[in-house]
Amino acid sequence: MNSDGKFFHKSKFPVIVAGPCSAESENQVLDTAFELVKQSQVKIFRAGVWKPRTKPGQFEGVGDIGLQWLQKVQKETGLFVATEVATSEHAKKALDSGIDVLWIGARTSGNPIYVQEIANAVKGSNVKIMVKNPLHPDVDLWHGAIQRFYDVGIKDIAAVHRGFYPYEKTVYRNLPLWEIPIELRLKQKDLPVYCDPSHISGNTDFIESISQQAMDLNMCGLMIEVHNNPCNALTDKSQQLSPLELKHLLENLEVRKEKFRDKTYKAQMEKLRKEIDQIDFLLLDLLAQRQSVIKDIAKSKAEMNVSILQLNRWENVLKTRLKYAKNHDLDKSYILKLLQVIHKEAIRIQTEVMKSR
Ligand code: PEP
Ligand code: MN
Repeated sequence: MNSDGKFFHKSKFPVIVAGPCSAESENQVLDTAFELVKQSQVKIFRAGVWKPRTKPGQFEGVGDIGLQWLQKVQKETGLFVATEVATSEHAKKALDSGIDVLWIGARTSGNPIYVQEIANAVKGSNVKIMVKNPLHPDVDLWHGAIQRFYDVGIKDIAAVHRGFYPYEKTVYRNLPLWEIPIELRLKQKDLPVYCDPSHISGNTDFIESISQQAMDLNMCGLMIEVHNNPCNALTDKSQQLSPLELKHLLENLEVRKEKFRDKTYKAQMEKLRKEIDQIDFLLLDLLAQRQSVIKDIAKSKAEMNVSILQLNRWENVLKTRLKYAKNHDLDKSYILKLLQVIHKEAIRIQTEVMKSR
């Protein structure tokens, strides 16, 4: 199939990539695929055959034979098929087997040497590439991995947002940090960005709400783990949906339009955006005013040789502002973060003034 570079772009409905975390047996793969092909939104069937596991001694995938099962899925269902590649050897084998889509997993995308070797291995082919975000939120590392595939001439590339390793316990297996894929989209405007709600959620509780949020942010597609018998899955058992659960999820998904050309809507939006513009510039004026007062404070402290940090004052600022914010129905953690950023900048400015004396 020749590529027009539009393979990963959505039309009316987002593109759905679905299938088990791991290919486990020919039966499990084909059975799941036959269930999924009944759902018209599913375009790509996924299954990992080489599984990167945290600890040794766990199920590490069925290996090469899984590629033959994916070929069967291709032939018998007409679905495109996708698998994860972590080395150039994997990539070569997958290409030889005619796998349509190769994805770079989160444990590989953060390793530029491996990514480059894989990119070199697929150079000149028509294969489609999906690049998951690295485990930690480094947008440049993610973007760099994607660029390596553009650089070898791959036309169809998508990014997959699968969340970021949380260093403390959270309800999610991986933190969504939605600002990171948004930043990536700013860096590479034409790049289709998908969401993998399964690996963000880590269980089946949040897959629907995360998928909806991805739609609210106008993402191009979803990669969702679906198993014909989730309770017996050999990997990621607690986060895989049954085909029926996927069907319900897709039925309930509200797909948002990127734009709406209605005149009244446009006029209303324009008016509201003008208001926002004014507020933002007002905020910036106030911040500039605050900065100039901070400089005066800094000069006084420097003259009197008084320490920059005044713990009691900072404690009081926090207390009074958070109380005020609460009365205005502003979210506590948002205001706390904002105050911390403002305070950090105040300390930086005062340090500069002190140094220059
Ligand atoms: C997977 O998709 O099964 C997988 C291993 O994902 P990730 O690389 O996002 O952990
Ligand atoms: Mn998985």
